[in-house]
Amino acid sequence: LFFSFEGPDGAGKTTIVQMLERHLINRGFNVMATREPGGIEIAEQIRSILLNPNNKTMDARTEALLYAAARRQHLVEKIIPSLEEGKVVLCDRFIDSSLAYQGFARGLGVDEILSINQFAINGLMPTLTIYFDIDPKIGLERIGKNQKREVNRLDLEQLAFHERVRKGYLMLLEQFPKRMRKVDASQPIEKVFSDVVALLEPFLTN
Ligand code: C5P
Ligand code: MG
Repeated sequence: LFFSFEGPDGAGKTTIVQMLERHLINRGFNVMATREPGGIEIAEQIRSILLNPNNKTMDARTEALLYAAARRQHLVEKIIPSLEEGKVVLCDRFIDSSLAYQGFARGLGVDEILSINQFAINGLMPTLTIYFDIDPKIGLERIGKNQKREVNRLDLEQLAFHERVRKGYLMLLEQFPKRMRKVDASQPIEKVFSDVVALLEPFLTN
């Protein structure tokens, strides 16, 4: 089982993935929780290039290729081996982040980004993808309050960019109705959590 968690910055993906990891372990599942871009050494190195606020001249296609490269390495080194061991994989961001951010919000084209990512993932799609829907104003406000979070290159983007990201995700939801489910991430965290558990439940018959 391979679950990915998507949505804008400040939607609560990271928190929910941590809660879910504990919840599934308590229920006796073997769990591997990870994140993108990153999760393993090579991909964390690519992440630091991608998110470095000093890399102001990063070309949009370069950015898209680096995300895809980090995804490939992470998949090969961590996700695939975990799936082969029978683990439930929880991944904070996956292909849909590239489709929404680079494909839609940056305007590179969802189909183009889909095709470079199909090359990268070579057929391995998530079983189910949970999209955390939230008004980017609320998401950005939450980030502003989170002192532990490091400033990254994307934080320099205007609200309009984040609004396009949301629009991109909502389009993907229509394009992939079987694989993607939406939760209202503006709700209290406990409610978001129980909504997510309810969506995963049909897959969790061990
Ligand atoms: O979710 P996380 O904090 O790890 O994301 C790191 C940053 O990378 C975020 O600011 C996110 O908006 C950005 N990002 C992006 N394109 C992607 C994935 C993440 O711009 N494909
Ligand atoms: Mg996060």
